[in-house]
Amino acid sequence: MTVRLRRIVVGPLATNCWVLHADGDRRALVVDPGDEPDRVRAAVAGLDVVAVVLTHAHWDHVLGAGAVGAPVLAHADDGPVWPHELATLDRLGHWDAGTATADLRAAGHPLRPEGPLWDGRVDDHLVDGQVLTVGPLAVDVLHTPGHTPGGVSLHVEGHVLTGDTLFPGGPGLTGWPLSDFSTIMGSVRRLAALPAVTAVHPGHGPSTTIGAERPHLDDWEDRGW
Ligand SMILES: [Zn+2]
Ligand SMILES: [Zn+2]
Repeated sequence: MTVRLRRIVVGPLATNCWVLHADGDRRALVVDPGDEPDRVRAAVAGLDVVAVVLTHAHWDHVLGAGAVGAPVLAHADDGPVWPHELATLDRLGHWDAGTATADLRAAGHPLRPEGPLWDGRVDDHLVDGQVLTVGPLAVDVLHTPGHTPGGVSLHVEGHVLTGDTLFPGGPGLTGWPLSDFSTIMGSVRRLAALPAVTAVHPGHGPSTTIGAERPHLDDWEDRGW
């Protein structure tokens, strides 16, 4: 079964929103519709979106979640994350973009929501080991906490969508109050046990493979980020 993966880069943090379906089948998942809902909707025109999956509930992954018109799925352990994001917006007047915040604001990104905020509604909770059926595809849900408590990765047919858990060159950032470095390294080690040829598609930037990243895990552990 050939997997079709389409990437739509959305929002000020260039978040990768993924549309996933089997070749020749209309049933699709939308993963991390983080912003620009019009572009996300245009990308799924002609497809039947069976669900929206949030790899985690950081603002840059969720803002378009309610606009796709499909049930929203996320891990229950990320329940505190979206309220924390809203509290940050309330307190600072803009989103927290981690280490990129100052540079983005200096470059003129207000880091404030332009459209309506996501209402935070999650229709169903994902659990580790769950299999999502997307037409003929079986998509495995892996709970990969650390960047956030309820981070998930999706594994399907030689591809893994890792959200902000695993990138080329290291794990996602763990500077947020709800993040934990040793937890994310446990998740990264679990992902690294996938076959070496597995394509890794993160929540921002280019893709990589498990085989390209696996040799570096001990270095990441040693450097501490
Ligand atoms: Zn994140
Ligand atoms: Zn992100």
